[in-house]
Amino acid sequence: MIYPEEGRQVCPRCMKKHAIFIRLLSLAGKYKLSLFFIVLFMLLNSATGLVIPYFQGTVLFDQALAGTGTFAGKIGLVILVIIAFRTLSLLFGVMFGIMIAKLAANVAFDLKSSVFTAMQRLSLDFFMRKQTGHLMTRVNNDAHELQYFFVDGMSYFIVNAMNIIGIAAVLLWMDWRLTLICLIPMPLVFWLVRKAFPKLWRLSWRRHRRVSALNSIISDTIRGSRVVKAFGKEQMEIGRFQRANDAFSGAEQNFNKMSGTVFPVLNLLTQTGGILIWAFGGWKVMQGQMSFGAVLTFVNYMYMLYGPIQFMNNIVGWWSYCMAAAQRIFEIQDAVPDVAERPDAVRLPDMKGDIEVNNVTFGYEPNKAILKNVSLRAKPGQMIGVVGHSGAGKSTLVNLISRLYDVTEGEIRIDGVNVKDISMASLRSHIGIVSQDVYVFSGTIAENIAYANPDCTTEDIIHAAKIANAHDFIEKLPDGYDTLVGSGGYNLSGGEKQRLSIARAVLHNPKVLILDEATASLDTETELQIQEALDSLVKGRTTIAIAHRLSTLRNADYLVVMDRGKVVEAGTHDELMERKGAYHDLVRKHDEALKMKEGVIA
Ligand code: ADP
Repeated sequence: MIYPEEGRQVCPRCMKKHAIFIRLLSLAGKYKLSLFFIVLFMLLNSATGLVIPYFQGTVLFDQALAGTGTFAGKIGLVILVIIAFRTLSLLFGVMFGIMIAKLAANVAFDLKSSVFTAMQRLSLDFFMRKQTGHLMTRVNNDAHELQYFFVDGMSYFIVNAMNIIGIAAVLLWMDWRLTLICLIPMPLVFWLVRKAFPKLWRLSWRRHRRVSALNSIISDTIRGSRVVKAFGKEQMEIGRFQRANDAFSGAEQNFNKMSGTVFPVLNLLTQTGGILIWAFGGWKVMQGQMSFGAVLTFVNYMYMLYGPIQFMNNIVGWWSYCMAAAQRIFEIQDAVPDVAERPDAVRLPDMKGDIEVNNVTFGYEPNKAILKNVSLRAKPGQMIGVVGHSGAGKSTLVNLISRLYDVTEGEIRIDGVNVKDISMASLRSHIGIVSQDVYVFSGTIAENIAYANPDCTTEDIIHAAKIANAHDFIEKLPDGYDTLVGSGGYNLSGGEKQRLSIARAVLHNPKVLILDEATASLDTETELQIQEALDSLVKGRTTIAIAHRLSTLRNADYLVVMDRGKVVEAGTHDELMERKGAYHDLVRKHDEALKMKEGVIA
């Protein structure tokens, strides 16, 4: 069997379904009152429904029409009683329907909130390792799967079990020999279900997988449409889509063929029971051993029995399905964040911004060190520039300072306190990051600027935007600060997004600022504006700045040169230039690249 999903700790075959089931039941405790009433109304609905065949058969034919017994000749009354019971049954049905609808929405709401909350607790590493699609499925689909379990599954299980017992008792009481006859096709039904249903489940899974594959191709080509068009690969994508579409269509056909065979055969077997009853019962009616009404009653009851039996048969496969969904949800709830806050973490109401990185070694994966013995010091208010080739570990270093990951060896101290001992809330409130991939949330420009501080005033937002040199372009947007951006909203350019993120940082007002290649790939005009905004932003803050463009670091107090995870040089621009080492090399290559670019433009 193929392991279904990378990153899952327990394979679906090995999980202890019973333990999960018990844990799920403990969650159901919260809803027990609603579940109690749902089951009560369901039982009342079936009980009132159960009376109807008796009145439609025995009472109508053998008493009212035959002119004997309590209801002799009273057809009108019998019809009224039937209508009354039908109405009652309907009312109870409507009541439990409404309650189920309410409970289902509440359960789904609670489950989704709990998964989402549990996810937010986890560290960045968790999100980097998982595909967005899979995580979205977990929040949405798995919660729905469990909602069915709680709401439909549990209540219908109880009611159907009661129905089976009740109807079987009535049948046996009416005529045990006829009951045995109507059970003749049963072993065949069971055999067919045992054989065919696992196969149906497999086919349905395959269909599910194929449709997921199809969806990823669609989402890939839509999101990557720029690349597809640029390389003129439309035909190739059409081909790829057609193959996946073909595979899906095949899986769909197989599933439909199988279910199209199994269900009619099951129906036929069910009807065989009825035919046998008609044959045997009819013969008894002719012998005068049984009334016509009794046979009719019997057949009606028998048909009522098959629904619940089929439900019970399906429940096994469906149960495993729900347990798998529960397992996935519990895995997230039980996951321990890699970067966790200590119970005795200290709060730092004020931070001076004194950063010490002492002999830090770190790797994203065990035994694969990305940073080796890195040390540096940034005194309050200083600006440190970190330079080096791409992949040298610059971003990794700042990820560690803002504690998105924990160091493997060594330590990072801020104001003399190890970052592992500082509460997450104080750490985050004092550290601001302006990075090259700016995420814009769906919402207005104002909301995006105020992300760190939603309670601030409009004046604060405008003030921050002005410092970030963003006010002018925002004013020109169709709705100014109320323009909707993010998915489905107005598309901001790279430079505009960066100024938005600088405004965010200005409003956040952190003591420690991290600038991660904030001016990559921009035109000169925009770059100047951004540089100006950054110059005002860094004032009075300890800043660690990473930049490819060495000119951006002209204000740095000193520079740290990194290469393959190590600090190879450190000093001021002038000192490093004099030394003619790695930094000198970088500057030379940088200047050459600039000249070439100018040459191309000219
Ligand atoms: P720089 O910022 O200097 O370009 P990075 O710190 O981004 O370098 O990357 C340093 C190395 O760490 C690279 O080899 C990169 O492939 C690796 N790396 C970065 N992020 C991750 C991650 N989340 N998981 C595993 N490896 C990573």
